[in-house]
Amino acid sequence: MTVSENKGYFLVCPRCNSNFKDNGYKLICDSCIKEEIRVILKFAPLYSPEINKNVSGLARYYDFLPAHPSTDIGVLLKTIRSNNFAKKYGFKKLFFTCTGYSQKLNINCVTASFKELEAISVLNRLIQFKNDKPLLLSSAGNTARAFSYHAAKYHYPVIIIIPGNSRNYLWLPDENGLHENVRKYVKAIFVEQPGTYFDASSLARLISIRLGKQLVDEGGLFNVGRMCGLGLCAINFYDEIEEFPDHYIQAVGSAAGPLSALRAYEMLDKKKALTINYHIVQNYPYTPLADAIENNRDFSSDGYLHNIDTACAPMLTSGDSALNYPGGIKEEMNLGTVFRGYRATNEEIYEMQYEFWKLENLQIGLPAAAALVGLLKAKAKGRINSNDITQVNITGLGDLEIKRKNGFFYIPSLFREPVKQNICSDKNKFNSWFKEELLVF
Ligand SMILES: [Zn+2]
Repeated sequence: MTVSENKGYFLVCPRCNSNFKDNGYKLICDSCIKEEIRVILKFAPLYSPEINKNVSGLARYYDFLPAHPSTDIGVLLKTIRSNNFAKKYGFKKLFFTCTGYSQKLNINCVTASFKELEAISVLNRLIQFKNDKPLLLSSAGNTARAFSYHAAKYHYPVIIIIPGNSRNYLWLPDENGLHENVRKYVKAIFVEQPGTYFDASSLARLISIRLGKQLVDEGGLFNVGRMCGLGLCAINFYDEIEEFPDHYIQAVGSAAGPLSALRAYEMLDKKKALTINYHIVQNYPYTPLADAIENNRDFSSDGYLHNIDTACAPMLTSGDSALNYPGGIKEEMNLGTVFRGYRATNEEIYEMQYEFWKLENLQIGLPAAAALVGLLKAKAKGRINSNDITQVNITGLGDLEIKRKNGFFYIPSLFREPVKQNICSDKNKFNSWFKEELLVF
């Protein structure tokens, strides 16, 4: 797999304005890190990115990515106007940007999650600079599925650390040859229950320290590849509706999604991007970021972590957030852009999933249902009016449909036994557990 030539870009530090050439995996500002300050680097293209109206599928948006595949990728997402749901709840201009699998919508994102946009962007960014070191990441479900699928397709080695309670989300469609390539290129390590995403991240950090430059960190919200990939949900909205929304709603873990939507809208029109109201939703009782935004305080997961595994949507349980880092959400709020936070309970999320099926005849994932719960709460609080142009990011749909169509298999675990929770946090226990062959692909 080769990537096409891109038109050139820099990575810019939002704090000290340093410019950097990319190497495919750069995640930090060299100056700021000397003061032990991490920043969210910005993607700064040396051209004006445009939607390519002459092609179809994801290729329309390649200007907005640091790197892209040379082969054609089909239609992964689509923005549709709501009918029945809008009518019932009193919205006149309600739109859903849908990523996933649906024959009815003619979208073909086979892992049924918008995280494919991220995986395609991050992996091609590495490939563009001819990197071949294993990519390390931790994930509570959707990200792991998307990276496993595309890593197998691109023959790029990945190591993924996953909490045991996310096992159910680790399926892949049974495509020809996929299982064999997943075995070859994907090392999935599970943390024993009640280990959470927090433990998985801790284990990833220990592996990263131990193996150093022998692998590359995916870096989560610090990866411009991730941010630009997720931002395509915003570009798709503008492409299909030809307007900017008044409101953008998404259920989140770290809120990389809404921040990347803001950055993507900025590439289209800097001023308009800042007038959009961004509504973020989390799964109660794990709502550290929604609460921090709503109460205008700094992000902290203290007081929430003991509840982390009672949320029904583990993909919404990040231990970190895009709020306080330079280049993050707080800076945008201080400049006047509106961000709001909402809580969605497990019960509300499950009810909404069924409600959406009844009204729009689309089978959505739990995070998308959480976003819709937030939408109705925002309207009830008078923060969204009936006439406002409102975009809801339906971050995943159609997993049952693709599973039924293709069949599916679970991503195999690297080890016979899941990793014990205390190995993730205790350096000595980690050192006696660790084996060098982790790196042998
Ligand atoms: Zn800097």
